[in-house]
Amino acid sequence: MKAMVLTKTCRILDDRKPLHFKEVPDPVAGNMEILVKVSACGVCHTELDEIEGRTPPPRFPVVLGHQIVGKVEKTGPMADRFKAGDRVGIGWIYSACGKCRFCLKGDENLCNDFKATGRDADGGYAQYTTVSEDFAYKIPDAFSDSQAAPLLCAGAIGYRSLRLTGIKDGQSLGLTGFGASGHLVIKMTKHRYPNSKVFVFARSEKEREFAKELGAVWAGATEDQSPEKLDCIIDTTPVWKPVAHALRNLASGGRLVINAIRKENTDKDYLLNLDYPTHLWLEKEIKSVANVARQDVSEFLQLAAEIPIIPEVQEFSLEQANEALVELKERKIRGAKVLRIED
Ligand SMILES: [Zn+2]
Ligand SMILES: [Zn+2]
Repeated sequence: MKAMVLTKTCRILDDRKPLHFKEVPDPVAGNMEILVKVSACGVCHTELDEIEGRTPPPRFPVVLGHQIVGKVEKTGPMADRFKAGDRVGIGWIYSACGKCRFCLKGDENLCNDFKATGRDADGGYAQYTTVSEDFAYKIPDAFSDSQAAPLLCAGAIGYRSLRLTGIKDGQSLGLTGFGASGHLVIKMTKHRYPNSKVFVFARSEKEREFAKELGAVWAGATEDQSPEKLDCIIDTTPVWKPVAHALRNLASGGRLVINAIRKENTDKDYLLNLDYPTHLWLEKEIKSVANVARQDVSEFLQLAAEIPIIPEVQEFSLEQANEALVELKERKIRGAKVLRIED
């Protein structure tokens, strides 16, 4: 099969083509696995973290990609949850031990043996991939393959982030950073918490306009003061400056949820601006989001179909994966980026 393969970590703006288009052996479905013919795979900021070594793959070469939509090509000898031809999705969670105290209470995203699709196992920047049948999801009919792809990560982790804010209807929500996840969170919030006002902090005027179109009551720059103090804020940026400004904009007892697998250290000094009374006192909280559990993905897919949330997507071919990643790095964001994988 054809795949875009990563052979080593590097800085993407130095080496703008970190992935190599190659012919590699077809994967084979194990006992309880399914072989999936990939038709769409979302491009996620986490891929940049993998390429640049902030969350490096444990082995090379590796095929990245964890927002996978495709059709079941073959089922393993003992796999019976799906049949050939079924449309399925695969997300960031590739496997977890199933036995530890985290797994047993549904927090498999925190499992010490958590394995990620497209990092610990080959993912979807390829024509085929395999996964345990228990870690694949049925995709609701409301979505095309490309539309469903970003729901599997940006959507599912946005859903988890929103849940972790502890928001109640009527409480105000801030979003700092307005990429693929922010678009989806704003739609979810309007549906689930119709009396909550959403405030968006974004770097570009275009993003701010887009946020208002989607229903934000206010949109400003990262360093702006929101017109009122906010009960909760979700940060989806890869850097530190927005964290400091978000803490300042939080109301007493407010919570900042950081939805990022890693932060880049380029502006870490900005944290020296933290002032205890301004940014932390009055029982402000900070919580991070780690991975997703299967429940987040399946609940979110249902919710997205019900609302409905149809993400805006920008399509690339498999061979254009490097371009999509460079655009993401340079924050050229026009909807969620998705690779369309042809036969
Ligand atoms: Zn992702
Ligand atoms: Zn576990």
